[in-house]
Parts: sequence; C-alpha cells; structure tokens
Amino acid sequence: MGKALIIGAGGVASVCVHKCCQNSDVFEEICIASRTKSKCDALKEKLSGGKTKISTAQVNADNVDELTALIKKFKPDVVINLALPYQDLTIMDACLATGVNYVDTANYEPPDTAKFEYKWQWAYREKFENAGITALLGSGFDPGVTGVFSAYAMKHEFDEINYIDILDCNAGDHGYPFATNFNPEINIREVSAKGSYIENGKWVETEPMEIKRVYNFPMIGEKDMYLLHHEELESLAVNIKGIKRIRFFMTFSQSYLTHLKCLQNVGMTSIEPIEFEGKKIVPLQFLKAVLPDPASLGPRTKGKTNIGCIFIGKKDGKDKKYYLYNVCDHSECYKEVGSQAVSYTTGVPAMIGASMLLTGKWNKPGVHNIEEFDPDPFMEELNKFGLPWNESYDPDTVE
Ligand code: NDP
Repeated sequence: MGKALIIGAGGVASVCVHKCCQNSDVFEEICIASRTKSKCDALKEKLSGGKTKISTAQVNADNVDELTALIKKFKPDVVINLALPYQDLTIMDACLATGVNYVDTANYEPPDTAKFEYKWQWAYREKFENAGITALLGSGFDPGVTGVFSAYAMKHEFDEINYIDILDCNAGDHGYPFATNFNPEINIREVSAKGSYIENGKWVETEPMEIKRVYNFPMIGEKDMYLLHHEELESLAVNIKGIKRIRFFMTFSQSYLTHLKCLQNVGMTSIEPIEFEGKKIVPLQFLKAVLPDPASLGPRTKGKTNIGCIFIGKKDGKDKKYYLYNVCDHSECYKEVGSQAVSYTTGVPAMIGASMLLTGKWNKPGVHNIEEFDPDPFMEELNKFGLPWNESYDPDTVE
C-alpha cells in the first residue's frame, strides 16, 4: 500500500520496524534512517526476508537539507519520527518541503530548556493545512493510546467527560539498582521536572514528586504512583468535551527515587554544560553514557506494565466511571520482537498511527493530536498487533 521512512534506530524504532514488517500489506517498503547507520543495518539484517522491502540510510535529523534530500530520494508516503523530541521541528520542516505526512511519539522540546509543550508544533498547523499534508502528533502510548482511549470513551461511553486520570504503571524489574527504560536523558528530564495538572482550564504546578497516591492495578497489584507533568494533558484538555480536571500518574519504586535524588543532589542530572578537563560536557549526557543502554534491558526485564485512563463523567444525565487499560508483559514482548514493554508499547502505536495515514482511514490535513481522529480503527488494530485493551465499568478511582 505504501512506503514509510522511519527516522531513528533505537528502542522504539526497533519495535516499530518489526511491526511494520508484520503489517506488510500496508508497509510495502520502509527505509530506516538514523545518525548511526550500523544500527539501521543491524535491524535490516534481522528482518529482511519478509514481504516488506527494507533499505537503510545515514541521516542527521537536525539538518533539514539532509532530511529533505533523503525524502526526495526515497519518496515515502509518511515519515515516522522515532528520533528524539529535539528533532521534531527539523523533520516537520523537511516534510513540508517535500509534501509528505508526518508522525511522531513525543512533542518538541528545545535541547537547552527541559520544557515540553505543543506550542512549537501547533504553530505549523496552517502550513500543513495549506500543503495538504497531515502531521499526527503523539502516536506512542502516552501520549498516543491514552488519547485514542479518551476519544473512544467520548465517542461510545459518555456525553461529557469531567475527570481523566492517566495511570502509567511499570512493574518490570530489570535487576539493576538503577536504569531507565527509555532514553535516560529524556526520562530523567521528565521525572525531575515539576509536576502539573490541569484544573478548570488552568495549569496547577506541584514540586517534583510532591503528590503521591497508591493504586491497586489490575493484573499487577498495589503500587506507589506520583503526579507528573505529561504532554497529552495539554491537548486532551482542549480536545475532550467537559474536562474539569486531568492528571497523569506514573509508578516509581523507592529504590529508583532514592538513586535519582542522590544523582540530582550531586548535580548529575543537570543539563547545564560544565567544563571538564578542557572540554564542555553536559552532566546528564555523561550520566546517560554510564547507565545501562535501555536496549540492553530487554532480556533481563520481568513483570508487566499497565497503562490506561480512568474517566469520570456523565451519560444520559447519570454519573458514570469507566477505565480503559492495556497490560503488557516484558518477557512476552522480548520473546516476540527482542525489546521490553516500554519500547513495545510505544513502537506498536507508532506503526498503527502511520498505517492509519497510509490506508487513508485518517486523512485530515493540518497538525493534529491523536484524539482528534476516529478512534475505532486504531482500537481494532491495537487488539490485532499486540496491545489488546481491557475495560472496567467499576474501577477504583484516584483520590
Ligand atoms: P533511543 O535513544 O533508544 O533512540 C533514539 C534514536 O534516534 C537513536 O537511534 C539515535 O541515534 C537517533 N537520533 C538521535 N538524534 C538523532 C539525529 N540528530 N539524527 C538522526 N538520528 C538521531 O530512544 P527511544 O527509542 O527510547 O525513544 C524514541 C522516541 O520515542 C523519543 O522521542 C521518546 O521521547 C519517544 N517515546 C515516546 C513514548 C510514548 O509513549 N509516547 C514512550 C517512550 C519513548 P544514535 O543511535 O546515533 O544515538
């Protein structure tokens, strides 16, 4: 049916490439392009022999001209950005220059300030509309499936949704005292930032990890979780009718938090460059270099993830609550595609989002968050491609 250019060859890209190959009727041809070409070639090696034709390329995604030249050469129908959030705008610029659809899983973040918000990408709305191409923002799990779940709940279960709590539980154990499940730089920047949530149309800010709750997760059990700022809060508060409050919670073990506190206290999580032996280094980037590579956690990680949304609102004048969630098993993911569940739960929706554009099921020129599209075909594909969802009409709610 079409051609996809996948940028990045890390944990998430690896899963996405596997899934594109499983969906070869839609993904006839893919090109994996990244800064380190050997990683693209290794993926190609692992997966060639199937129906999807695979090629690879070297590209610096910070450079619009390089990206544009690659897109002109490969002529994809969609570009799937699975590099880092810093590359979102350059890749969007190259898509505009060549008239190609765009998909990503994380919103733009300037490298020098740990602050992520949609304003930079939303500013491209008119340009994409005029070019007649679609940018699908946030097609991972959270953001991503959480937005699809919200659109599905709005479409089928509620007249208005007043409260959403997004709960992200990772009960996986990799056996290391401290490691991050995805890119350490992005992960640590996210969890060491101030928390925030939206209430009555306004952001309420908290200190990092200030708000703690305990939740009994289906198929996992009780876990401590903490309120974090998360990017989909911003778009869901705009796109879902009747929202009064929307919050995001993520589980962390005590050991993870103690290590993080210590690293913060000694300055290792700082993004301010320091002078070291005549060279400027960013402490957080150095920390990334000494921590285990998230890709290496796959074979060691046991246990499950549970990510989902609890909705509270009204249907036919009556109060209603509804919980949609997915449970994913780290070892099962590793057996299937050679990656743990955090990469898996992001790479699968990235493939599905791109397939929605390639098949024309979603076609809305402009820059759109995922909850702005019809959730039904996406929900079907989740069941088909390894992320089946569960629902409950009587969930525990979060205080
Ligand atoms: P990794 O660090 O494993 O992979 C990133 C890849 O991007 C690497 O292959 C890296 O190349 C490549 N890259 C980085 N900079 C450039 C550049 N300038 N030009 C070309 N390639 C580049 O990250 P993950 O796979 O864990 O994460 C990928 C994305 O997914 C991130 O944006 C992350 O925020 C997002 N994410 C989203 C989630 C969601 O649920 N929505 C959850 C988890 C992650 P090299 O090998 O040379 O370093």
